Amino acid sequence: MTTEQQRDEGRTAVQVACDTEVSGCVFLMRTEADDKDRLLEITRDHVSEQHGKEYSLEEIEEQHMTDVEV
Ligand SMILES: [Zn+2]
Repeated sequence: MTTEQQRDEGRTAVQVACDTEVSGCVFLMRTEADDKDRLLEITRDHVSEQHGKEYSLEEIEEQHMTDVEV
């Protein structure tokens, strides 16, 4: 017996794609909006480790984060 996951209406998620900045990288992550800060930190670490570039969390949020419908 399984129970369907409940869905809140108007719930949103956020998505960050690295390939907009660095050609050839397929880094793409999506998470719930509530977990946005963690996603930003993961992305910052990815860009730092994989591409040797330093971005602030604000820069990533403004330039690379998009809202997506769940
Ligand atoms: Zn990347």
